[in-house]
Amino acid sequence: MKKHNFYAGPSILSQYTIKNTADAILNFADTGLSVLEVSHRSKEFQAVMDEATALVKELLEIPEGYSVLFLGGGASMQFCMVPYNLLNRKAAYLETGTWATNAIKEARLFGEVDVVASSKDANFTFIPKGYTVPEDVDYFHFTSNNTIYGTEMRYDPDCGNVRLVADMSSDIFSRPVDVSKYDIIYAGAQKNLAPAGVTIVIVRDEALGHVERQIPTMLDYRTHVKKGSMFNTPPVLPIFSALQTLRYYKELGGIREIEKMDVAKAGRLYDAIDSSRMFEGTVTDPADRSIMNVCFVMTPEYKELEKDFVDFCSTKGIVGIKGHRSVGGFRASLYNALPMESVEVLVAAMKEFESKH
Ligand SMILES: *Cc1c(COP(=O)(O)O)cnc(C)c1O
Repeated sequence: MKKHNFYAGPSILSQYTIKNTADAILNFADTGLSVLEVSHRSKEFQAVMDEATALVKELLEIPEGYSVLFLGGGASMQFCMVPYNLLNRKAAYLETGTWATNAIKEARLFGEVDVVASSKDANFTFIPKGYTVPEDVDYFHFTSNNTIYGTEMRYDPDCGNVRLVADMSSDIFSRPVDVSKYDIIYAGAQKNLAPAGVTIVIVRDEALGHVERQIPTMLDYRTHVKKGSMFNTPPVLPIFSALQTLRYYKELGGIREIEKMDVAKAGRLYDAIDSSRMFEGTVTDPADRSIMNVCFVMTPEYKELEKDFVDFCSTKGIVGIKGHRSVGGFRASLYNALPMESVEVLVAAMKEFESKH
């Protein structure tokens, strides 16, 4: 049976990425060797790194003065690397979900943290608005897409002269971003790019070198900028796969074309939820709805059927729609590689299930 993969992460990758990765595991760039057994210093792998870096810059239209890094440690490592490198005295954070909370916790190890707004008391069902970012902070950090709660900031916030840092782990490459507004953007690969194991970091070179503390070599962005992400052995295989996805994104027509598809997919599913008597969305302000992770539950009247619906979905080849334990219900992740066809299958399953009850 054809599977429809709605997992939140690790998550669906394009067939192009998977096929080319499988081929390179057997024979990488006609070397007669597997990509798993080739030196990261070989000219063949250097070419992978160079092209992947160039494509990230091209697709996101990154201006001069920025470096693109491919690091290990996951997005969670960035929760401490960002304050290690940027936080002298005080930083501002927007608390919009579990990942933001985790980032705040790490930042507190390095200085004062001003949580400018939080929707924690409402179980993160909306994005706080109308907050002000103080001018005397070293940077303002936000999470562009809250993977667990299905809320998203599909815009680049304005905070004057304050440095801007974003965790874009689960919506990078789903909309054009004005990179010039940011000092650091980071994203774990396993949601819209590659297998787990690599994190993309886009850093404004000028933002580095202003903290007074000593930074361990591996946690200092400057180490990796200077060595082109090759100070130590980088996550070779995820980087190879990332390159395939980046090529595929370019082939699709770039980020603007991808965004159109993503908006259409999410619109189709939200319409189905809104027009149903059995399902309802969990995000309170429709303007905050994520186009990457669609969170919904059954209305109180049908609540006890939630498990049955997950089972019903699996008979249709639908996998990964069980909601995160902190929200419950369902979460359909509609990352770039998910085809509209899979959304149609899910919508049809919702309609069929509803008609039976
Ligand atoms: C998944 C996720 C993370 C954690 O990523 P790891 O690579 O597992 O550390 C952080 N932030 C967001 C927004 C995520 O979706």
